[in-house]
Amino acid sequence: MRWARIMGQIVDRSTQFKVAVIAAFATRRVPIPVEMAIMLAHMRDKWSCDRPRIRYTDTLATANGERARLSISRPKSPVHFPILYNDFEVYLLVQTLKSQRSCSNQRNCRVQDSQKASQSLSCAMPPHAELDLNANLPSPLPDQDVDKLATAGSRSLPIEDPCLSYWHRTTRAFAHLHENHDQDVPAAARYLIIGSGLSGSLTAWQLLDAGVPGKDIVVLEAREAVSGASGRNAGHVRPDAFRGFGAYARVHGPEQAKKIIENEKLVLKRVDEFVKKHNVPCDFELSTTFDVCLTPEFAQYEAESLEAYRHAGGDVLHVSFYGGEEARERTKVASAVAAYEWPAASSHPAKLAQWILSDMIKRGVRLWTHCPAVSIEPHAGGQEPTRWDVRTPRGTIAAENVVHCTNAYSSYLLPELSSFVTPNRAQAHSFVPTFSFTGANAMTSTMSLRYSLHHFFSLIQRRGDGTVIFGVSRGNPEWTDETRQSIVSFDDTHYNEEVAATSEREYTKLFPERAGKAESHGEGAEHYWSGIIAMTPDSVPMVGAVDDKPGQWICAGFNGHGMARIFACAPGLVTLMMGQSWQETGLPECFQYSNDRLTKAEKGEVVSVW
Ligand SMILES: Cc1cc2nc3c(=O)[nH]c(=O)nc-3n(C[C@H](O)[C@H](O)[C@H](O)COP(=O)(O)OP(=O)(O)OC[C@H]3O[C@@H](n4cnc5c(N)ncnc54)[C@H](O)[C@@H]3O)c2cc1C
Repeated sequence: MRWARIMGQIVDRSTQFKVAVIAAFATRRVPIPVEMAIMLAHMRDKWSCDRPRIRYTDTLATANGERARLSISRPKSPVHFPILYNDFEVYLLVQTLKSQRSCSNQRNCRVQDSQKASQSLSCAMPPHAELDLNANLPSPLPDQDVDKLATAGSRSLPIEDPCLSYWHRTTRAFAHLHENHDQDVPAAARYLIIGSGLSGSLTAWQLLDAGVPGKDIVVLEAREAVSGASGRNAGHVRPDAFRGFGAYARVHGPEQAKKIIENEKLVLKRVDEFVKKHNVPCDFELSTTFDVCLTPEFAQYEAESLEAYRHAGGDVLHVSFYGGEEARERTKVASAVAAYEWPAASSHPAKLAQWILSDMIKRGVRLWTHCPAVSIEPHAGGQEPTRWDVRTPRGTIAAENVVHCTNAYSSYLLPELSSFVTPNRAQAHSFVPTFSFTGANAMTSTMSLRYSLHHFFSLIQRRGDGTVIFGVSRGNPEWTDETRQSIVSFDDTHYNEEVAATSEREYTKLFPERAGKAESHGEGAEHYWSGIIAMTPDSVPMVGAVDDKPGQWICAGFNGHGMARIFACAPGLVTLMMGQSWQETGLPECFQYSNDRLTKAEKGEVVSVW
C-alpha cells in the first residue's frame, strides 16, 4: 500500500493573507480548513484523470481551529495544481511516498519524506505562489492523536464513499439514487430539508400532506439517496414493550417513560397503516418479536422491568411470557432462559425511504443528491420571509425554513449540538441460512437475543429471500479496547473485523445447523456493513424548532431506534411547523428540542439510558 501526502497553501487573493499552509503528514489523513476540503472533494469529478482523487472524510476540532481530514489517492508521480474557489487560490502538491511497509522505522521515514516533499514543493510551485515553508506550519500529528481528535466532540459531514449495506446492494437501480447530482441547486426554497433518510423523506411527505405544494420543498442529500442509517440498519420496526421503562424513568420520570414506550407502539401501527394504505413495496412483514433472555440475570432484569411498567399503568396485555423449555421451543434458541413476545415488524428500510422519496418527487418535491449543505448563515438580503442562506458546493439556497434531518451529523450545521449528539458506528451482517432455517423452517418472528442490557444481538429473517440480518450491540465485554474505542466514529466506509467475527461466532452458536448438513457454497456469512447512529445524552430524539434560530427545525437524534420513532416524530414536527402546539403532536414532552436540554446535558445532569 502506498500513501500520498499533500502540501500547499491557501492565499486570499485580495489581501494576500495566508489562510493556511497545509502541513506534510505521512498519513493518508491530512487536516486542512473544512470548507476547502469539501469544495475539493466535490470538485474532484471535474479534474482530469492525472489529478489525484481527494476525498473529504470528516471534521476535527484542533488547537488551530476546525480542520477537515482528507484521504488522497495515489498519483504515479508528483502533481501540483492550482484550484480557484471564491476568493481563495489554493495550490496543492500531492506526491506518492515510499511504501510504509518497506520502511523499518516509520517515524524517521516520515520525517525524511516530509523534507523531501518540502523541497520538491518549493521547486514545483508556480512562481507567484506565496510559499513560506518556515511560516507557522502546524506540526504533523501522530496518527493516534488524529484519531483521538476525531472522537472528541467532533463534527462531520457524511463521509464520502461509504460502504454499501445489504439494503443498498439490493436497490442499486433506484431511479432517484443520484437525483440532480450534477445540477446547480435552486436559488430559493420555502422548505429546505437537509437529509434524505427516513426522517427527511417522511418530513417532506408530511409537508405535502399538510397542503404545502411540492414545488416549495427541496431536499438536499450529501451522498446518494438514503445513504445514511436508514439505508444501513438491521431492518427491525420493533417497538419497546416494557424493557426500557425503568431506565427511561430514571432520566425522564415514570410518566414520560410510559409515553416513550406507548409512542413506539403507535409507530408500529402507523408504519403498518402507511405501508398498507399506499401499497409500499418495502418487504414489510408484521409479525411478532421475541426478547430472548440468555442469562438468568437478564431474565430477572426483564421481569422487574415488566412489573415496573405494569405498576405504572403501562399496557402489557399484548406481551406474552415463556419460561425455560417453552422459551427454547418457541424461539429455537437452545440457550434461552426465558422469552417475551409482542407484535413487531421487519422491512427493507431503504425501499421504504426510497418509495417515500419517489412519491414526493412525483408530487413535485425536488431532491439534490451528492450535495452537502456546508454552512447556514442569516440571509444576506435580510428580507422576510427568507431567513437563511444554505451554502452547498453547487450554489446557495435562500430558504424560509430549514429542516435538519441529519441525525448523527446534526452538529455539523448546528455546532451547539457538538457535545449533545455523539456519532456511534453500528454494524449489521447478512447470512444465507443453512438447511435448518430454510423453507418451512424459516423464522417468522424477529428477535433480540440478550446477555445483558448492553450486550445483545438482533435478528430478522426476510420472508422474500430468507436472508438473515443479524445486528450487533455496540457493547460487548469481550471486545478489545481498540474495537471499543472505534465505536465513536463517523466512518461508515468500513466494518470492524472483530465485530464481524463476533457476529459470525454468535450466529452459528445461537442458530446451529441441526440437520448435521455441511455448509454448502453460498450459505453462511454473506455481507457486513456499518452505519452511523446518533446518540443523545438523554437517550431520546430532538423534535421541534431550533432555539434562537427562527425558521430552523430539527427531527434527529434517534439513538439507533429511528424505525420505531420517526413515523411519530416527522409528522409531529410538521404539526409544529404548521403552527400547532406541542400537545397536538402527541409526542412525549421529553422529545422537544430546547436549549435547556443541551444545558442540562452539559452540566452532566442527565445519566444516559444506554
Ligand atoms: C447498523 C444499524 C442498525 C440499526 N438497526 C435499527 C433497527 O433495527 N431498528 C431501528 O429502529 N433502528 C435501527 N437503526 C437506527 C436507524 O436506522 C436510524 O435511527 C434511522 O435510520 C435514522 O433516520 P434519519 O433519517 O434520522 O437518519 P439517516 O438515515 O442517517 O439520514 C440522515 C441523512 O442526512 C444526510 N446528511 C447529513 N448531513 C448532511 C448535510 N450537511 N447535507 C446534506 N445531507 C446531509 C446523510 O447523508 C443521511 O442520508 C440502526 C442503525 C444502524 C446503522
